[in-house]
Order: sequence, then structure tokens, then C-alpha cells
Amino acid sequence: MSNKNFMSAFEQYNKSHEQKKRVSGEDLLKKYFQIKEGVQRIRLMPPLSGEEYFEKAKFHMVRETAYNRATGKTYLGWKKHYCSASNDPKVEKVDANGDLVLDKDNNPVKVRPHCPLCAEKDRILATQDQSLVRKKEVELTTQAQKIGYAKNKEIFKEAMQFTPKDYFLLRVVDLDKISDGVKIWQFPYRIDKQGVHDYFMTAIGRFHKEFPDSDWTSISDGCTFELKNVEATTKSGHQTTKLQVIYGDSKLSPVTLDEILNKKLAEDTTKWSDLHKKKVRAKITHEQYLERVITKTNPYYDNDQKKWVFPDPKDADLQSNANNRSDDDLTESSSNGNQESSMTQAVVANEMENTNTQPDMDSLTPEQVSSMPTISESTNSGTSESGNIDFSDDEVDDLPF
Ligand SMILES: [Zn+2]
Repeated sequence: MSNKNFMSAFEQYNKSHEQKKRVSGEDLLKKYFQIKEGVQRIRLMPPLSGEEYFEKAKFHMVRETAYNRATGKTYLGWKKHYCSASNDPKVEKVDANGDLVLDKDNNPVKVRPHCPLCAEKDRILATQDQSLVRKKEVELTTQAQKIGYAKNKEIFKEAMQFTPKDYFLLRVVDLDKISDGVKIWQFPYRIDKQGVHDYFMTAIGRFHKEFPDSDWTSISDGCTFELKNVEATTKSGHQTTKLQVIYGDSKLSPVTLDEILNKKLAEDTTKWSDLHKKKVRAKITHEQYLERVITKTNPYYDNDQKKWVFPDPKDADLQSNANNRSDDDLTESSSNGNQESSMTQAVVANEMENTNTQPDMDSLTPEQVSSMPTISESTNSGTSESGNIDFSDDEVDDLPF
């Protein structure tokens, strides 16, 4: 084998090894920035090529049966779901037979990718009396119109629960945990201008006034931000942490004095979309899961039984498959004679596919992160559209499990 061939084989070996590299659930959790009681000091990282300082994306926030890490019990709570229709590029439209739909110039017609929750919103809205949709209340003349108008309002309210909400996604470094690398902080857009983004705008505005030629995200000469957080109780009695204010340092500084660490951060390409690949839960696709969210039959993790549960009897086949480990997992745990406990061990091993590929969320169960603090977005509650959903009233589960 020539030296060149050997090098090529060596590279291939390294590459295949790289692909099989597994990332632990713990490592994944490190990528989520969470506010904690007291003071936190952070840096905002420069945007990646083609990205904004404050990236934006849409997520659905829906109420569903979920797992509460703090109590170890299932509960009815708010969960956040990636919206493919809003965030993914358009796809070629196909008809009922699976054939491409072409426009008059014979080019494929492009449409938004299918999102079950957006489709449900559209389905509900289509049941409105269309003749009254654009009318104002003062324009209604008959009693029948007034009744129809009131009904339309109810239908609109029902549809809005399936409307995706705007979120900001920010690349940050927690100065108390620099070795974790770049983390993603996600917070909702607030119509009342009392959200995290608004606090940042005030702090950045001050920084810009003082250092008009400086970039607050500069790793060598940027701004350190201080977050003040307080403990608070939500309307429903949950303990939570609230962000009170963000201050920007009135001097320029490097992220750390450690040059090697700064270089590492500069090369860190962690981006929000890495954390928001479509999730696979209980061995069903993101879309299949969302279809069940609509009918309130989504699978959930039952900590008492230590398994995924499908509430709909029609999902019997999925139920029987949901808790089967893959061959890989069984091999991994075969040294333990007790199947049940070895499966738990496999779970505790926190292993999942490298995030370069779609993470197999199935290999993570909520119990793995039971020690993690509950994430709340109470300070970021509210919604950009309907204005009548207050997430602060309950726990918002923000993690991908
Ligand atoms: Zn959607």
C-alpha cells in the first residue's frame, strides 16, 4: 500500500469513527442555556455565517401529557414543538398519487413542508363562516350575522392554540461554564416588549453609545452581560426563576484570558438548528407525534412503569414497539443478566447518535434528566398573536425529551 493509499484509508477510518461517535444526553443538555437564581455572566457569540445576531424561528406551544422531571410524574403541561412549515425550506408539491405538481411553465410548484399542527390550525379556520371573516363587528346588520360572528371568534380562538409562536435563538457562553462551549438560549418574542430580547436591546443600545465602533459579540474585545434572576412563583404555584434585568459591562474585554479557550470558542459552530432536528420519540416520527398531540393521544413517558405509553388503543402496534431497544442497545447492556435493569443502564449511559445526524431521542428518556432544574419561561410568557395564552401559568418544558 502506497503512503498515499494508507493516508486515504486512515482518513476513512477516522471519518467512519467520527460518524459513529456518540454524544451523551448530558452533553446535549450542556448546549441549552438556562437561567438560574442569582447573577449569571454571559457573552453573546458572533453570529455564524449567514445567521443573524438574534436568530428567529417558530415553534408550537401546546398543552399535552408530558413528564415532569421535578416530581417524576406525568402532568398536563406546555411543550414546545419545532414547526417544519415555518422553519424548513419549501418542498416540491405532490398530488394524491404522489406525482409532482407543475406550474404553467412546467416547473415544480413549491409549498411549505407539512406540519400537522399548522394543518390543524388551517382545518379549524376553514370551518369559519367565510362571508363574515373580514367583516368588522359594526358592519353586522342581522342577528344571524352577529351569531355567526361570535361563532367565528370562538373558532379563531380554538385555531390559535395551533399557531406557531416566534422565538429568538441566541448563541451564548456562560462565563461560569466556559468549558461547556457555546450554548443556545431560546426565548419567545414578547409583544409587550418585556422579554429577553427587549432587555438585550436596551443593554446593547447603551454599549453601542459608549463604544460605537465595537462589536458586542467580539471574543477579544466584546461586552460581558450580567443577568439578574430572582426566584418567583407562577400563578399555578410552581417555583420558577425570573429574569429581572440585563446589564452590559461598560468596558471592552476578551471572553477569557485563556487564548486557547478563546480560539476554541471562536471555532465553535454550535447552532440552534443542531438542537432542533425533528425529534423521534417512542420510535415514532415528529409528524406522527404531533398528529397525536392534536387528538391528545400523544405518547408520554411513564416513570412508574419506566416506559413509553400510547394512550390510544389504536396504537397497539406502536405501543408494543415503543419500548423495544435496538440490537445495539441490547448488545451494550448484555453483560447484565437482568433485562429490565440492563435496559435502564443503557438509558443511563445517556448515549445517542452524534448530533450531526438526527438524534435518536428514543435513546433518552425523561428520567435521565430528572436532576435537571425545571425550565420555565415565565418571564417570557405571552404570545405574539392571540395574546390570550399565558405560559407563566404552568411549567414549560423546553428540553428535547
Ligand atoms: Zn407548524
